[in-house]
Amino acid sequence: MIRIGGAGVAGLACAANLSKSEDVTVYEKAHKVGSRYRQSVLAFRNYGMTRDYVEELRQVGVTGLKIRKITRIRKYSPSLKCAEVHSDNPLFYSVFRGANSHSIDSSLHQTCIKNGVKFVTGSEVSESDVDVVAIGGRETNVLGYGTTYENACVEQDTIHLFYDNRYAPKGYIYAVPFNSVLTVGLVCFDKDQFLNVPRMFDNLMENNPVLSGMVEGADRAHYFQNFAHYEIPKTAYRNGKHYVGEAAGFLEPSKGFGLRYALLSGHLAAKSILEKKDYDLLWKAAFGSELEEGMRMRRRFQMMTNDDYEHLIDSFGNAIEIGEYVKRKDNAFR
Ligand SMILES: Cc1cc2nc3c(=O)[nH]c(=O)nc-3n(C[C@H](O)[C@H](O)[C@H](O)COP(=O)(O)OP(=O)(O)OC[C@H]3O[C@@H](n4cnc5c(N)ncnc54)[C@H](O)[C@@H]3O)c2cc1C
Repeated sequence: MIRIGGAGVAGLACAANLSKSEDVTVYEKAHKVGSRYRQSVLAFRNYGMTRDYVEELRQVGVTGLKIRKITRIRKYSPSLKCAEVHSDNPLFYSVFRGANSHSIDSSLHQTCIKNGVKFVTGSEVSESDVDVVAIGGRETNVLGYGTTYENACVEQDTIHLFYDNRYAPKGYIYAVPFNSVLTVGLVCFDKDQFLNVPRMFDNLMENNPVLSGMVEGADRAHYFQNFAHYEIPKTAYRNGKHYVGEAAGFLEPSKGFGLRYALLSGHLAAKSILEKKDYDLLWKAAFGSELEEGMRMRRRFQMMTNDDYEHLIDSFGNAIEIGEYVKRKDNAFR
């Protein structure tokens, strides 16, 4: 029997893949799977991938998930100059998180239940009690804070991103739609500013006409606040235990994207257990260099001033195709 601590996407992906040939029990400290994230909209990056991300989702055991294609990103400088990045192919996919029936958590949870995985909810375990540690980040170097709105009337194929150190120090602000639900989130990478983040978010929503226009007439469903943690571990296999997702530090350091690495590492930990393969070799080959590149970008972002953001957005012009955008961004960050 394999014991997994934590029913976030990393633990669920690991359980779904293991349960094809092992008895699996997942221990979750919350009373309901997926409740940590309530209902919010998150995004998977699709550009820069060697194949469409839907393929990878299938490979790691996520099927039947409701997703939406995003083919445009509007990027804003602090003075709200806008560069529109576009593509014929999806740049991102938006998905629901949380305990609702359409979310990625529910989709994986259903697969696990179908495969006979046992869940013990309301049960906080320590690392020594389990074989796979999937309990999320233990330290904190990123803070995500924001609001989910319902009945928002917004373009369905567009993500809005804002760079402004006054409101999101060393980070960014995003607005991601899914049908009439819109999540506006502020991602802060400056630990010294974490306490100020709720106030900065309220100021942002009051003073940013693009965002306030987007949520006009919409209903505020709830605020959310979640801490996250990135690091590149030397090993994610310690004391005979596989560490997956954010428990291992697997979060892309430049933007804080962690869903893909949570799913992949859960899948690879299962493969390591079932096929007796070296887990560290597997995750390093799959995404080690992406995390290194993200760390390099993060060091650059830590130094960006609002003037730098103005120049960066200016350099893209009003509208730019994704291939050209990536080239120019890489040059700017070299
Ligand atoms: C506000 C915000 C927005 C984000 N947006 C994006 C995005 O758009 N795209 C993206 O790719 N990534 C995003 N991320 C990051 C992504 O959500 C995380 O990296 C990912 O959810 C990590 O998954 P996980 O399973 O490792 O951890 P978690 O999702 O944190 O799951 C850990 C689970 O373990 C449980 N648990 C904790 N301790 C114990 C214990 N002792 N015993 C039992 N259970 C325990 C928790 O209750 C939880 O259910 C965002 C993060 C935040 C904070």
